[in-house]
This record gives sequence, C-alpha cells and structure tokens, in this order.
Amino acid sequence: MAHIRFNNVVKRFGDVTVIPGFSATVADGEFLTLLGPSGCGKTTMLRILAGFEKVTDGEVWLGDTLVSSPSVHVPPEKRNIGMVFQSYAVWPHMNVFDNVAYPLRIRGVPRQEMRERVLRALEIVHLQGLENRMPSQLSGGQQQRVALARAIVAEPKMLLLDEPLSNLDAKLREAMRFELKEIQRRLGITVVYVTHDQAEAMAMSDRIIVMNKGVIEQVAPPAEIYDRPKSRFVADFVGLVNFLEATVESADGTIRIGDDLVLKVQLPEGSHQRVLAAVRPEHVRISREGSGVGTVKGTVKRRYYLGDQIDYFVETSGGEVRVTGNPLEDQFNEGDTVVLHIGHAFAFPL
Ligand code: ATP
Repeated sequence: MAHIRFNNVVKRFGDVTVIPGFSATVADGEFLTLLGPSGCGKTTMLRILAGFEKVTDGEVWLGDTLVSSPSVHVPPEKRNIGMVFQSYAVWPHMNVFDNVAYPLRIRGVPRQEMRERVLRALEIVHLQGLENRMPSQLSGGQQQRVALARAIVAEPKMLLLDEPLSNLDAKLREAMRFELKEIQRRLGITVVYVTHDQAEAMAMSDRIIVMNKGVIEQVAPPAEIYDRPKSRFVADFVGLVNFLEATVESADGTIRIGDDLVLKVQLPEGSHQRVLAAVRPEHVRISREGSGVGTVKGTVKRRYYLGDQIDYFVETSGGEVRVTGNPLEDQFNEGDTVVLHIGHAFAFPL
C-alpha cells in the first residue's frame, strides 16, 4: 500500500502559486527524493507533508488517513514522523543523551525504557559512548547524527530529511550518504528526502522526483533519470550535458550536427526538422583518429586536469563539446587535433 499519497496538491502564498498541482505516491519503506533547484518548492512540499503548512487545495493521505485538505489538517505531532531539517540544529545547552531523549520525554516514556531507546538510537547512528558530551564537543557530522538519532528515537514510520547534510564537508557528506541509506534499510522506514544535490539523490534514492518551478518533471529510479531524462531540464539538472543543435536527416533517428557529425538518436515525439541533441561528457571518447557515424574532428581548446579525470573542451563544426577523459589513456594538449567518438545521445524538441 502507498504510505504517502499527494492528490493534486496546490499551494499558494498570497497571489503566488508555488505548487500548481502535485500528485505522487511514496511506497511503504521507500526512499524518495525531491530534487530540484533552489526555490522550486521542495521544502514547501516537505512542510506540507509534515503538517507545518496547510494545503490550498488537494489532499495528502498517510496510509488510509486523510491528513491534509482545505478542510482537514492533522497537526505535525499526530503524524508519527521524524524530521531533520537543515536549520534543525541540536540544542547546544543539552548533552547528547538529553537531545536524543527529548521526543520521548515529551511523550512521557518511563525513565528506564527511555534510556534503552536513546542508547539504541545512538548505536544506530554510531555515537555510542558519547551520550554525556555537549554538542560543542562534537564534530559537525556527529552533531548531524545526533539530530538523526533524535528523529528516529520515537520510531517514526516516516522520516523527512531536508538537506540534512548541507553543513558537512565534502568527505563527511559522502560518508553520511551511505550511513543514512544503511539506517533507512535497517529500520525499514519510509524516507522523503529533499536536496538540490544530484549526487546525493542518485546515491540514496529508490526513486527521484525532479521538480522545476513547483512542477514534477520526472519521477523515476536514479538510473532512469540519468539514462532516460524526459526533458531538457532533467538532462541538464541531473549530470553534465552538452547541448548541440541538430538537423533531422531521417525519421529513423539519424541527425546531423554541424558539417560532419552524424548520430543515431531516439527522436522526440512529433515531427521535427531540427532537434536539440544532448550528449553527456562521459559518453564521449577522445582519440587521435577515427571516422564514421558518431565521430567528429575537433580542436582541444581547454584542458583541466582533475586527478581522476581530465576535462577537455573541444571545438567542433557543430559547437563546443565537453569531454571527460581518462588520465591513464592518451593525454591531449590545448591546440591538438582530435577525434571525438560519441557513444550515446538524447534528443529533445528545440
Ligand atoms: P531551497 O532549495 O532554496 O530551500 P526549495 O525548492 O525548497 O528551495 P521552497 O522553500 O519550497 O523551495 O520555496 C518555493 C517558493 O515558495 C519560493 O519562491 C519561496 O520564495 C516561496 N515561499 C516559501 N515559503 C513562503 C512563504 N511562507 N511565504 C511566501 N512565499 C514563500
């Protein structure tokens, strides 16, 4: 059964429509991410789900309970959810134990049971032994885990996370992704996660909802979002992409870019004379020679060495193409003449 159901949810603030109509379901035990640029309405949807915002129209269901509609509003404390918001810091004047115990204390859980549950929650987030520390004696990542322990201690059926890793450095952020996913798996809870970081969304989610200006652009598992983006917006927002204007040469999907690059793509629906081809940098191989379908000559204009890869910007007759090169293979210099081999491309209406 769907754990969460949004039925055509509309949210307006005064005259401004932030969410024009949002429909989606989240399955029991699913890790679902709302992904989109700043201001697209992700936090608003999460706050509606938590019960901090009322809906202007539409319905939100948790299991078979209607929790939000224009005439119904179940308050946050009655929704059985745990939350970690970006701004939801741990309380600095309480030690770790008391921070985590707080949700149980306000529910009147007996002392001994409370102790056991707090220690179990701390164990889940790998903070056992630190219960007497004050937050100021913890690293950023440990504080974030205290917030997480506090969110799961009351054993919610659903966990809402709004950019919970945003204050961490890159390394810790990456490590926490795997920990979060592991915690979710172990507890079997439903997670709705909000981020504008596509790598985070890709690494953890069962499905991703890509949002743009309050509207759902695509709902799919990470690999499908990446490999089969439905729109130009999704292709551009998730991963890197080169956009190149192309002429359709035949209805079988043959397109031409510039003078000499011929590609085979799946054409968008409808009849088009011109389309926008989208090519991911990692789908291009760079070499000294080659010819035929999918190849094009070019000149290396810029080159950036990144350690694990080399980014090349190559000028071709169809426009500039960014290519991800492998440092262990041939290296090219600015000014070199090269051949690009394009393995895969999408096409969108122009
Ligand atoms: P970010 O990643 O920056 O947090 P977001 O995708 O979470 O962005 P929201 O915070 O949901 O976006 O905001 C969506 C839009 O709604 C924004 O244009 C914002 O200015 C507007 N908005 C949010 N809350 C209110 C409010 N209380 N009153 C008026 N406008 C609001």
